[in-house]
Amino acid sequence: MKKCSRRKFLSLGAAATGAALVHTSLAAIASPPAASTAPAVANTPAIHTFDYNQVELLEGPMRQQFDTNHAFFLKLDEDSLLKPFRQSAGMKAPGEDMGGWYDIDPAFNGRGSFHGFVPGHSFGQYLSGLSRAYAVTGSKPTQEKVQRLVQQFAPTVCSAFYDNYHLPAYTYDKTSCGLIDAHRLAGDRQALAVLASATEAVVPHLPEKALSRKEQYARPHKDDAYCWDETYTLPENLFLAYRLSGNPRYRELATRFIEDDLYFDPLSRGENVLPGEHAYSHVNAFSSAMQAYLVLGNPKHLQAAKKGFDFLRSTQSFATGGWGPDELFRVPGSGEIGASLSKSHAGFETPCGAYGHFKIGRYLLATTGDSRYGDSMESVLYNTILGAKPLKEDGTSFYYSDYNMQASKTYHPDKWPCCSGTFPQITADYGISSYFRDTDGIYVNLYVPSRLTWSQHGANLSLTQRTQYPHAAHTELELKTDRDTAFALRLRIPAWTGPGTALSINGQRVKTDLAPGRFASVTRNWKNGDRIALEFDIPLTLQQVDPQHPNLVALQHGSVALFAISPQATPLTRTSLLSARQLSSGSLDWEAATDAGKLAFRPFQAIGEEQYRLYQEVVI
Ligand SMILES: [Zn+2]
Repeated sequence: MKKCSRRKFLSLGAAATGAALVHTSLAAIASPPAASTAPAVANTPAIHTFDYNQVELLEGPMRQQFDTNHAFFLKLDEDSLLKPFRQSAGMKAPGEDMGGWYDIDPAFNGRGSFHGFVPGHSFGQYLSGLSRAYAVTGSKPTQEKVQRLVQQFAPTVCSAFYDNYHLPAYTYDKTSCGLIDAHRLAGDRQALAVLASATEAVVPHLPEKALSRKEQYARPHKDDAYCWDETYTLPENLFLAYRLSGNPRYRELATRFIEDDLYFDPLSRGENVLPGEHAYSHVNAFSSAMQAYLVLGNPKHLQAAKKGFDFLRSTQSFATGGWGPDELFRVPGSGEIGASLSKSHAGFETPCGAYGHFKIGRYLLATTGDSRYGDSMESVLYNTILGAKPLKEDGTSFYYSDYNMQASKTYHPDKWPCCSGTFPQITADYGISSYFRDTDGIYVNLYVPSRLTWSQHGANLSLTQRTQYPHAAHTELELKTDRDTAFALRLRIPAWTGPGTALSINGQRVKTDLAPGRFASVTRNWKNGDRIALEFDIPLTLQQVDPQHPNLVALQHGSVALFAISPQATPLTRTSLLSARQLSSGSLDWEAATDAGKLAFRPFQAIGEEQYRLYQEVVI
């Protein structure tokens, strides 16, 4: 890789002639208006998330996963994280190489080893994960690490970093996310200015518009990996940068990379253009459509995100809520999703996919108030990300959930892949995904052990949720308030719930509409100590993988997929699968009686090293 001389980069900024365009745009971004001049946006949803520090996860697997990731990234070596940037800038670069995707390796060419695939790609995501963890916990050492990283990253920023770089937009998008989070969540005063230079550094390396992979392959390229960039995901963070800084340059860039021609326009017209596209980045692009809708106000972008998400759920998903075997969207009606069960072990790109799924789920829930987005977040939570294996110190990461007929949980062969970057982000987002609010009150979106703290009409309140859901069929919430307060409490009633679902307040059954697939709403004058109990009627069902494989079915208890453990090749019947029983309420162990004896089932989060199978072949 061509070395970047620091002097050369600075002179780029100082040049008044010869690079007029670059100079103008650099100046335009480097001197953003004060935050107080943050621009008006076209749409502000009535529903929004709470701040990170308003939701505390209580003891349970989600809290454990968040704490583990927080501690892991807090102790990552800073010299190693900064090494590829310092090397490119021609600076002293002490510390060990990170390894895997993260290093500079001029020999990388998209074939064979992925060592050196995208140097420094996940730096911004680690910065983002730490900033979010600071926002959740208020941990000073975490905030200080964020600030040190931004400070040490700043002098490395140079355009030559992206010379001969395979995926400049991809890495810049993550870098910008980290700097945005360092600014808005960790109070870093330098981050917006660093973002300005980082943006100007990448601009000369970007195409004139968002390019699909097909368009990238059609252009001259040195090797295949030059055709995998993800310019179509840029608008989300660019619009966020615009909203934070008020600088119209970000808005211009964001608008330039909205992929209307091949993606959002046809999606908004109801055309399913997902098949053949790379899965995660195209789900992530839905969030760019949402920011475009919020900032610019064209309803077609909301429509594109909604339609795209509908296609994702109805034509691309497994029973787990995961999608995109081999990271590709498939042609509906082709039977390819069912066929992947015997061909592939790369069922669902789990940390990245779950991160993108939760993010678009939050945007769409906030904009539409539709609880089904919460249903799909719940499904992805319990069936995918909560069962991800923890990161190892050397960067070994969980990547794919395996849905093969002969499946097991494995680690990815490459160190520090994309999924090592999204993992700390999604676990830090668990809290803000659990509750939402509007002016009338609050929405309980996820039934997880947690405490929400907020104020409503001048009252200071907290809501503490204790539950073993979904492994026990009920949840309890206790309200504390310093004064009686009227507000609306909305509870998500999953679309799959049966007629036995019941709501009680202070032990008294409440007669309210508990229609499945909606938020139930209770408005009353709430008092300190009020207790809300929700009992779920959870059915046991079978879900076929696709219409072309009607006899390949997954056993589901509500949203939770049950995986057969150490399965034999014995033919099963639908009746025997539906005979499955949980060993006790709250237990993660299930058993079904079959002709060959008892068959054990467990949810994904309870699977360790054992072989498992998501879809069972049934004879009748
Ligand atoms: Zn990934």
